[in-house]
Amino acid sequence: SVLGYKNFAHQQQLDEQFMAVPSPSLARQELKTLTAVPHVAGTPEDYQTALYVAKKFREDGLETQIVPYMAWLNTPREIKVQAYGKSGKLLMTGPTPEHVKGDPYENDPRILPAFNGSSPSGDVTADVVYANYGRLQDFNKLRDMGISVKGKIVIVRYGANFRGVKAYIAQQRGAAGVIIYSDPYDDGYFRGDPYPHGPYRPETGVQRGSIEYLFKYSGDELTPGIASKPGLPAKDRLKPADAPALPKIPTTPLSWHDAAPILKALAGPSVPHAWQGALPFAYHIGGQGHVKVHMLLKMDYKYTKLWDVIGKIPGTEYPNDWVVAGNHRDAWTFGAVDPNSGTAAVLEAAHGFGVLLKNGWKPKRTIYICSWDGEEEGLIGSTEWAEDHATQLAHAVAYFNTDVGVSGKDFNASAVPSLKNFIRSITREVPSPKGGTVYQQWKKSQDDAEARARMTNNGFNNTTYTATHQPVRIGDLGSGSDYTPFIQHLGVPSTDVSSDGPYGVYHSAFDDYAWFVMNADPTFVYEQEMARVFGLEVLHMADASVLPYDYVTYGKELQEYLTAAEAKAKKNGITGLDFAAAIADAKQFTTAAQAVLERQQSESGNLSTFNAQLRQVEEDFLNPAGLPGRPWFKHTVYAPGVYTGYAAVVIPGVNEALDAKNAAQAKAQLADLVTAIQHGTATLQAAAK
Ligand code: GLU
Ligand code: CA
Ligand code: ZN
Ligand code: ZN
Repeated sequence: SVLGYKNFAHQQQLDEQFMAVPSPSLARQELKTLTAVPHVAGTPEDYQTALYVAKKFREDGLETQIVPYMAWLNTPREIKVQAYGKSGKLLMTGPTPEHVKGDPYENDPRILPAFNGSSPSGDVTADVVYANYGRLQDFNKLRDMGISVKGKIVIVRYGANFRGVKAYIAQQRGAAGVIIYSDPYDDGYFRGDPYPHGPYRPETGVQRGSIEYLFKYSGDELTPGIASKPGLPAKDRLKPADAPALPKIPTTPLSWHDAAPILKALAGPSVPHAWQGALPFAYHIGGQGHVKVHMLLKMDYKYTKLWDVIGKIPGTEYPNDWVVAGNHRDAWTFGAVDPNSGTAAVLEAAHGFGVLLKNGWKPKRTIYICSWDGEEEGLIGSTEWAEDHATQLAHAVAYFNTDVGVSGKDFNASAVPSLKNFIRSITREVPSPKGGTVYQQWKKSQDDAEARARMTNNGFNNTTYTATHQPVRIGDLGSGSDYTPFIQHLGVPSTDVSSDGPYGVYHSAFDDYAWFVMNADPTFVYEQEMARVFGLEVLHMADASVLPYDYVTYGKELQEYLTAAEAKAKKNGITGLDFAAAIADAKQFTTAAQAVLERQQSESGNLSTFNAQLRQVEEDFLNPAGLPGRPWFKHTVYAPGVYTGYAAVVIPGVNEALDAKNAAQAKAQLADLVTAIQHGTATLQAAAK
């Protein structure tokens, strides 16, 4: 039986009605309309997309509002990068405009020059040091080599972590400025044919992107924890100089076309082998005065109005228990993949809800379908709305996200442990364009990827690989998209879904309709698949008689995290932490969850109280004090890592203290985690009765 339904056959009938609606040809029209022109957050073109989405939601019968919030945003007035050799010879001057042969969109005058959101203005001339991906271990390696980045311009490549982390560590180490470029090794010709011959990044393609220190908090940088509504008094906002999430050193992105002359001229020590990229020369660390770069960034900062579009379907039985689902709408340029491939899927899901509503369906719980603005600048529209509705969201039953909805054919998902089996069960209902179900194809693509990895590791390619019978693996939620305020600030159980493929035009001028139909989904059948998966997530959560959270999986994952942390403590020589007791607590949580599972299956007793208890468990994982140095992040089990930004760090308070070899802090964080687990266990035990 499927958790949440005593009579699943009835739900399946509704699901069939729903799944018949999302249409590839309508998704194509919607994507084309949304991506006709660049629509950066807060621009008139962005407002037009808000009106379009609102109109679609209303046609589908959703009660729809455009909700404004204010955000402290920068736009580039002037950006210049020049490099000089030792003799003063000009090596390059840029940035070079993005250009390929044959792209029909690239000449749109509304494309902003490539820049980093949240970078300050600056005018610096300095010697240059190459720091690989700009990870903590890369900067530490430089330090071990006796190379200082103080007062230098650091050049790093995109990849491996969130770009804001690169700027953050450079700032901590005293750098004067940062250049972040796209190496062909990571998403260019080293991987395959560049656009317009294939999906990879062309020579002049630049990755824009925010460097907000989002591992401190997300949203408007001047209002952590409070909603930045129009009319919020100035005294309630931080001064820019006091905002912890606002970077302090000028940072700008470049294409490899513009970065190559700088890197080529760097002298000094050879780079460690793994730092060599795919440009056709040997890389050097620099730092010896062979190259001087002049970076001039003139940014205009101002409070800018953003527009979330919020569509509501009132619930009949539990109107105060919300199911929230969202995707952002704003884009750095055209946003064909990021994010409007997701928006088209959401619109087709809403289309499906509209047909069900016309047939007389009414959900048990209230549904909110949200089109967020300002995600690119720092998850702003979602964060401000979440902060605005924190009280109601304290018992929202789920937040479902999709961002880069469709860049290819391989389904992928991340989720809190309690919703992993939920996603698996939904993908077993949805047909895949490749044949069979989404679940089967998802499992196959994971098994194939593992087989490939194994072959590479073995160094020969005739390994036969038998698929395992393990359930498909689902990732953990870190950050980089709009689920962050929901799960990590407010404890709303969340998921994130996408259909992935090679995507080398991320945040460039070429993320347009022409690239999409050539490389991602020519017939829009993966758009249809996403609309179905996303829509079924909402329908199932809105109508479940018993909330389908699986806390047995949560408990087991907690046991694994604690076991791994215990090993790390040992390796780092940290003693005095009682991991055995903590693991015993996690086991007790798992045992309590097993008893609850039986009641979830039998659906016995007062279900309203039972559901409230089930939802309470996720909230029990919140620590009101938040994480050390970042009180906005309240979840004790998941957070974006301070040094990863995108990737999740599990039991972050404990793990980050262990990484920093801070025994006292690790001990305090473990105590807070144990308290949270014990609260969860108590809630489960009460619920089992
Ligand atoms: N998804 C965007 C990015 O990766 C925004 C991340 C953020 O600034 O929070 O650049
Ligand atoms: Ca805020
Ligand atoms: Zn996005
Ligand atoms: Zn993006």
